[in-house]
Amino acid sequence: MNKVVVITGASSGIGETTAKLLAQDGDLLVLGARREAKLQQIVSDIEAAGGKAVYALTDVTSLESVQALAKLALDKFGHIDVWMNNAGLMPHSEFIKGKVADWNRMIDVNLRGLLYGIDAALPSMRAQKSGQFINVASVAAHAVHPGGGVYSATKAGVLMISEALRQEEAAAKSNVRVTVVSPGAVATELVDHVTDQSTKQALEGYYKQNAISPERVATSIKAAIDLPADAALNEIIIRPTQQE
Ligand code: NDP
Repeated sequence: MNKVVVITGASSGIGETTAKLLAQDGDLLVLGARREAKLQQIVSDIEAAGGKAVYALTDVTSLESVQALAKLALDKFGHIDVWMNNAGLMPHSEFIKGKVADWNRMIDVNLRGLLYGIDAALPSMRAQKSGQFINVASVAAHAVHPGGGVYSATKAGVLMISEALRQEEAAAKSNVRVTVVSPGAVATELVDHVTDQSTKQALEGYYKQNAISPERVATSIKAAIDLPADAALNEIIIRPTQQE
């Protein structure tokens, strides 16, 4: 309640849904993504429901852009309680397809974007001796399948970076919590951005049958944020009940 929460990748899916859920409970939302019309609509939906949100056009592959998002939060609300590194993409394909541009985008968004978020928010959290990172990984951080090598590598990287951050902040007694969220299949726009057509078709079929709503993930993130500050939910793995 009344926490200042910054979310990257807030223009759709898990980011949008989490923003709306938290705003309902009085949290103050600072939203970042690249699609301005989507962000404007989400801010007006939140305001129409009685909540408070602002946005900044943000590309997480640019350090300056992520720093500007943090500055907006600090200028507007004075501090940052929660920073959710959520922006990500999953353009699966087998290596033989040679989709080097997709590999680079995953590394840039899923990994560099996460690091830029940590860099932008950690100093102010250290100074205020409180804060929380919500870093969105995936069940793909724990297992790999054909076509998912680069995605799994980036999401396993999210796990490792998060665990190192957790240990550093615990040792520094900064009260900064680190929560990794590792979802299974969730019905969002994620599969729309797969560029390899046969992989996309297969994923669309699978997601249609199996995916859970992003509200389920948002609810678990809210629980991690609402936990009293002396305890940290360090990883949430949330799958559709029937996902193998
Ligand atoms: P969506 O595609 O709906 O959301 C992805 C978000 O990331 C969008 O808001 C998009 O906004 C943003 N984004 C992409 N590139 C950039 C960028 N360069 N800078 C800023 N924002 C960017 O998918 P999800 O909601 O599913 O994805 C959210 C997270 O959840 C991702 O990290 C994904 O890997 C993870 N995840 C999702 C699962 C699923 O099954 N859906 C399962 C496991 C993990 P815009 O285009 O406006 O910039």
